Amino acid sequence: MLAAQLARRGITSVLIEGGGRLGHGIAFSTDEPAHVLNVRSESMSAWPDDPDHFARETGDPRGFAQRRHFGRYLRSILDEAIASGRVEPIADMAVAAVREAGDWRIDLEDGGGVVARALVLAIGNQPPEPLNAVPAAAGERFINNPWGGGARAAVREAAASGGEVLLIGTGLTMIDTVLSLAAAGHRGRIVALSRRGQIPKAHAEFAAAPVEAGELPEGLLELWRWLRRRSGEVGWRAAVDSLRPHSHALWQGLSLAEQRRFLRHARPWWDAHRHRIAPEVARQIVDMVAGGRLDIVAGRIVGIREIEGALGVEIRRRGWPLTPLSCAESPSSSALRCSDVPQTFGAPRPSGGEGLGRFEFVFNCTGPLGAIGRSRDPMLRRMLDDGLVRPDRLGIGLEVDGRSRAAGAANLWALGPLTKGRYWEIVAVPDIRGQAAAVADDIASLLQPAVRAMREHKSNLPPDLVEGEPPAREALPGETLNPLPEKDYTQKQQPFCDGEENDPEIDGR
Ligand SMILES: Cc1cc2nc3c(=O)[nH]c(=O)nc-3n(C[C@H](O)[C@H](O)[C@H](O)COP(=O)(O)OP(=O)(O)OC[C@H]3O[C@@H](n4cnc5c(N)ncnc54)[C@H](O)[C@@H]3O)c2cc1C
Repeated sequence: MLAAQLARRGITSVLIEGGGRLGHGIAFSTDEPAHVLNVRSESMSAWPDDPDHFARETGDPRGFAQRRHFGRYLRSILDEAIASGRVEPIADMAVAAVREAGDWRIDLEDGGGVVARALVLAIGNQPPEPLNAVPAAAGERFINNPWGGGARAAVREAAASGGEVLLIGTGLTMIDTVLSLAAAGHRGRIVALSRRGQIPKAHAEFAAAPVEAGELPEGLLELWRWLRRRSGEVGWRAAVDSLRPHSHALWQGLSLAEQRRFLRHARPWWDAHRHRIAPEVARQIVDMVAGGRLDIVAGRIVGIREIEGALGVEIRRRGWPLTPLSCAESPSSSALRCSDVPQTFGAPRPSGGEGLGRFEFVFNCTGPLGAIGRSRDPMLRRMLDDGLVRPDRLGIGLEVDGRSRAAGAANLWALGPLTKGRYWEIVAVPDIRGQAAAVADDIASLLQPAVRAMREHKSNLPPDLVEGEPPAREALPGETLNPLPEKDYTQKQQPFCDGEENDPEIDGR
């Protein structure tokens, strides 16, 4: 989206993508029809100044399109920008970014490099880090990255064998994995576990009940009370969604302690209600639970170990004593007997005489990496180590200012989930598109005067900027050519509905 926005402004860019997902990213590179958007088509346009752009393509504004179709839509926008000659794609990993004579030099894995005036980090959600409870011996039966090739292979294998599968985390990643397993024909039991067992709620029609910023109280506790009261009056969907246009300002109005309190205590509730799933997906999940194929468990992992070609998982269910790994293996480890374990909670059940909590595969569905300082992305790692970027005060993203400029570095921006600490609600398309447009404006305002000045002095311009210098043009309908003042684009947010449960408590992190 940013490359296309820059191209609109006549700025040439190089787009480096190293995951084989050019123009799609992680979310929209899935080829599974079961993976549908969790935002209605009417809110998924890539262009903030043309909000119906995607809905016109689907012909069903209120529907939830397949994510692969949205991926194709994004790719077509990128292809147009590439065809304009203003975007050069490079299929390679960026492994380092360093300052060099006032420019950025980006090193590529294949040994090449790119020099640019401005650098934007848009590397998205980082894969989760391995859970503490999982031993190295878990090997390939523990799938840490649910979006990688290993996960797809494990889904196929589990479908073929019908083995039991444990999903750690009960948010949108869990939903995706359940849908993948079901679509692949898996008929075994699936256990989905998180500390609270909260799963995403479903979208439904409701009457909107917008509020003005001035009607909202200050402070986390007061806001929470307001939300509860308002939910009683207008319904929780209307109450939650009425906060969307104000979410950035509300987040930034909280103290650091309040933001931390929100992440620790309120986030699971917020995520489940705010980031809702399509009604058809919710129906499928309900059917699977009713049919005994999916158990949602509130609890925590005590230990995981390898047992004869499977993973044995000890689970402490919320409010219950420790469930032994296997009645046969540890008959005296708990007063609880197998027959005492209530099935309604979805506790591990004896299966084929193999004992409790025996799973063919365990998937980490706790969502993207929570602590940016632990990212293993080579370029980001190096930039963090070199002090070119630094974690925000919550440690969940990078520190950026109100224009998404990285703190302390010249001509460096960050986009999307990397800027969660500043904006919180900035992980889905309806927010990111506004941010991309604002960053494109900001980059244009910084680079274009320099280009003009250099032209006037007949200087030798770097090729990217020579080609990128646009003729003066009229603003497109609804488009802003001048840089926006701080936080301005946050006022134009549109609803978005995605997020991931990232339960840092699940394994004691
Ligand atoms: C499973 C899932 C489903 C989602 N569903 C929805 C939805 O229905 N609606 C919605 O609005 N939002 C949804 N989202 C959220 C949202 O779409 C993402 O947060 C958003 O796509 C992030 O965009 P991005 O461009 O910042 O990152 P991404 O789309 O993740 O793109 C980052 C790209 O950078 C590449 N990359 C990373 N590091 C490097 C490097 N060092 N060198 C080169 N390339 C690199 C990656 O390969 C990737 O292609 C979903 C997210 C996920 C994970």
